[in-house]
Amino acid sequence: MIRTHEVVCQYDETIAVDGVSLNIENGEYVAIVGPNGSGKTTLVRTFNGLVTPDNGRILVDGTPVEDDLVAARQAVGMVFQEPRDAFVAATIGADVAFGPHNLGLSHAEVDRRVEAALEAVALAGRDNERIDRLSGGERERVAIAGALAMEPAHLVLDEPLTGLDEPARRSVLSRLASLHAAGTSVIVVTHDLRGVIDAADRVIGMVDGRIAVDTDAATAREELAALDVYVPPETARPGQTASTPDS
Ligand code: ADP
Ligand code: MG
Repeated sequence: MIRTHEVVCQYDETIAVDGVSLNIENGEYVAIVGPNGSGKTTLVRTFNGLVTPDNGRILVDGTPVEDDLVAARQAVGMVFQEPRDAFVAATIGADVAFGPHNLGLSHAEVDRRVEAALEAVALAGRDNERIDRLSGGERERVAIAGALAMEPAHLVLDEPLTGLDEPARRSVLSRLASLHAAGTSVIVVTHDLRGVIDAADRVIGMVDGRIAVDTDAATAREELAALDVYVPPETARPGQTASTPDS
C-alpha cells in the first residue's frame, strides 16, 4: 500500500503539491490526471523518495520511505516521462537486464524477465539493438520494459503513452491490465485516458497541487470535464453487457 499524509512539496516559491493525503491499496489501478503543472509528477516522485516532501509523510507497505529508500525503490517501480537519461547500458537487452541482475537473480530468471518485458512493449527479439539508434517512442518502451522486469509490487508510469504509436500503446496497456489482474498496483499519470479509463479502478484529478477529483472510473467522466483531460467516449468493458447492444 502507498499512503501519503498531508504531503507538501515546494520548489522555491512554487507549491507543487499542497497537502495531499492519499491511500492507494495493493492491486489498485489508478489513473492520475490533471493540467500541466498541477503537481502529478512531483507527487508520484515522492512515492519512492525521488522527491522528498517539505511536509507530510509517505508510507510504502507500512514503512516510511525515508527509513528505507532501497525497499521503497524496489517496491515502487517508476517509469519517467523523459527516459533519455535513464539508460545504463548500450543495448536494449543489457539495459532491461541491469535491474533484475542487480537483484541477484539467476541468469535464467533474468533472461525470463527480460524476454517477458520486451514482449510486453512489442520489442521482442531486439535485445542487441543499440539504444542510441532508437526513436523516442522506442526508448520510452525500453524504459517501461526496464521497470516491468523488476516486477515491483507497485508500478508508477508518468505519461508513459505519449510517444507511442497505436500498436505499442495497446501492447503496453494490455500488459498493465494483466499486471493489475495479477495483483500489481498500477498508477498511470496521463492526460489521455483512452484505454485507461475503462481499465482503471479509480481516477484521481489534480488541480493546483491538490486532489480535486477522486472517484471510480464510471463516475469520473463528468467530474473530469472541468479538467484539461481528454476523456474518451464510454465503451463496454470486456465481459460487461453493453447498454446499447448492437446485435
Ligand atoms: P505536472 O506533472 O502535473 O505537470 P509537476 O509536478 O511537474 O506537475 O509541477 C508542479 C509545479 O511545480 C509546476 O508549477 C512546476 O512548474 C513546478 N516544478 C516542477 N518541477 C520543478 C523543478 N524541478 N524546479 C522548479 N519548479 C518545478
Ligand atoms: Mg508531469
